[in-house]
Amino acid sequence: MKELPSEQDLQLWNYAFTGAETMDLLRWCVAYFGPTLALGTGFGLSGMVLLDMLMRISRDIDVFFLDTGLLFAETYAFRRSVESHYGISIRGVRPTLSLEEQTRLMGDRLWERDPDLCCALRKVEPLATALHDRSAWLTAIRRDQSPTRRHIALFSLDKRLNVVKIAPLAFWQEADCRRYVRDHRVPVNPLHRRGYPSFGCHTCTRPVGPGESQRAGRWPGFAKTECGLHWHRGRPAPVLPLASPQVDKQP
Ligand code: SF4
Repeated sequence: MKELPSEQDLQLWNYAFTGAETMDLLRWCVAYFGPTLALGTGFGLSGMVLLDMLMRISRDIDVFFLDTGLLFAETYAFRRSVESHYGISIRGVRPTLSLEEQTRLMGDRLWERDPDLCCALRKVEPLATALHDRSAWLTAIRRDQSPTRRHIALFSLDKRLNVVKIAPLAFWQEADCRRYVRDHRVPVNPLHRRGYPSFGCHTCTRPVGPGESQRAGRWPGFAKTECGLHWHRGRPAPVLPLASPQVDKQP
């Protein structure tokens, strides 16, 4: 069983790094957590900022994405170009159930009937798989992305996943990310230029119009605003029992 830091440790870390340079925070994380640190990315704008900053510190950091099998073709292609750009391999972590198995067990197009269950199967459970032997999870979520993220801390405990959750960009704004990718020539997912400020599975994302919030295009037709990795109706999302982890290998 991994040992989590105490609440006192977390308070100290949050106090020490509030207002600090993000690169200093990241250097400390890399030194402190070593090979048990992992970055989860969805290949969005802030995810690429965080990845680029980490790559300036070390190319040995574990980077993974949750491969639901339903991501945009642009995202799958972008993953390969990011790997090539940084000379790294990014783990794709798949759900226990293939899409065909999910359809057989739960019917066709589960996301149109019960997106919470679909996300639990295709995102939350694979996240637990991805982090089962890690101590710390880096995520690029920011406070300005949505009301549900307004109070996120730099460091917190995710007790359902038994990891330290680290949000180094918690206090960044959208404009800060845009400036960073421009100044550092960071690859940007082409979906952003096509009206998708936020995206996940193509089945559950539409482009947003002028004046709409960044996440307005997620799960259209449902009240759902989060997939459950970070927040789910005011409580942690269910984590289903793990079967055999499916982590893809580079062809
Ligand atoms: S975003 Fe949609 S398709 Fe993807 S896992 Fe969630 S409900 Fe399923």
